[in-house]
Amino acid sequence: MALLIKGGTIVGPWGEMPADLRIENGRIQHLGFDLEPDYRDSVLDATGLYVLPGMVDMHTHFYLRIGDIYSADDFDSGTAAALAGGTTTIVDFVTPDRGEDPISAVRARMNEAENARTDYSFHLCLMDDSDDTLDAMDEAASMGIRGFKVFLAYPDRYMVSPAQLRRIMARARELGALVLVHAEDGPEVERLREEALEQGHTGVIWHARTRPSWQEGRAVRVVADAVRDMRTPTVIVHVSAKEAAEIISDSKELPLFGETCPQYLWLDESRLMRPGVEAAAHVCSPPLRTEDHMKALWGHLASLGLHEVSTDHCPFELALREAPDFTRIPGGLPGVETRFGLLYWGGVYQGRFSMSHLVRLLSTNPAVLSGLYPKKGEILPGSDADLVFFDPHGFTPISVDSLHGRSDHDPYDGLVLPGQIVGVLSRGEVVMDGGEVIAEPGRGRFIQRQPLSSGRLSMVKSGIYPWPL
Ligand SMILES: [Zn+2]
Repeated sequence: MALLIKGGTIVGPWGEMPADLRIENGRIQHLGFDLEPDYRDSVLDATGLYVLPGMVDMHTHFYLRIGDIYSADDFDSGTAAALAGGTTTIVDFVTPDRGEDPISAVRARMNEAENARTDYSFHLCLMDDSDDTLDAMDEAASMGIRGFKVFLAYPDRYMVSPAQLRRIMARARELGALVLVHAEDGPEVERLREEALEQGHTGVIWHARTRPSWQEGRAVRVVADAVRDMRTPTVIVHVSAKEAAEIISDSKELPLFGETCPQYLWLDESRLMRPGVEAAAHVCSPPLRTEDHMKALWGHLASLGLHEVSTDHCPFELALREAPDFTRIPGGLPGVETRFGLLYWGGVYQGRFSMSHLVRLLSTNPAVLSGLYPKKGEILPGSDADLVFFDPHGFTPISVDSLHGRSDHDPYDGLVLPGQIVGVLSRGEVVMDGGEVIAEPGRGRFIQRQPLSSGRLSMVKSGIYPWPL
């Protein structure tokens, strides 16, 4: 018994075409023209709709603990929001406390994610290059976790030195794993923050003024130099500054990749000057910047100077954002549900790039970089039947009340986006229909990630993908 999807326009990273799909046992079995059902098959009419691979968000923070508070969404509500927004796979993080055994932290995180509705994986955050840490990388990779995140920011908590970064990169390369870097210049930011506080600057805008774009560029330069030596596939997460994007874009010959997030494309730093807690609601690191940075990031997405858009979804309730000065606000914005709509609007609807390029940025490229491709991120025979049905003639109002996450605020509240996701399949089953999330908590599966291959990574760099027929 198969499911036949007929009459839609299939979009992959390779382009788009009117075609039909046959789905069996949760996977795409056949892509072709005028497929005929037999008597046992069910048929889904996709006339007038785009049929896209399920979106992959490789950067979420569900149930993230900072001190004694947690981010607003757990894996249940966060993945419900993801499905409503067309995202069928998320990659979250394991963030061990300093001194905690990373593998015990992985196991604890697995338990926390048991109520996920989407498929999922993790990246493991590392804070040093000790032999124990490198051994933990081996063990994590054997568990199917092939992404390791390090910070050049936060000297008092997470920061690694350039030498430590290289040791971690060397081990990651042996394991076929990705290194993800939060690239900000920790000591420089620390100095600017102390200076601002000494001068009595406590307002929220100083969060941005003490994290200037040039320090982000400087940190990305350190990473690019390390990648040049080590040749380890590396992604700079949440790029916000044009200086940073330019270095990545110019590193065409290196396995260096760039991620940005919807907030850096759509929101500027004037949000940090809004009254009361509204300003604090827009704190994230790196910070929101100015129009010229936003314009540059859109340009780099269109030209593949940047390679994927994930969300860094990490809202905290407004009550938790009240703080006596800008250094004590828990940072992070929501985005896991609105990502597709915002990128469709700014990317396709406003004429910056094609539907298939949108699929690359939101689905295929994060899948390749995370070692999930071609199981995820593609519409090819053998791929999981994770599919998004998108009606370009519909529209999507955004309101805090109707979003599926638990955040009590949203920076896009009140917007009406063009286009509408009308249905989502995960492994061949309907998990969202007409805006209603049907998947139960716990339906999601932990996905083992494959070692990265240079051939697939070069597709991300070049934008050239195999034709499916
Ligand atoms: Zn993050």
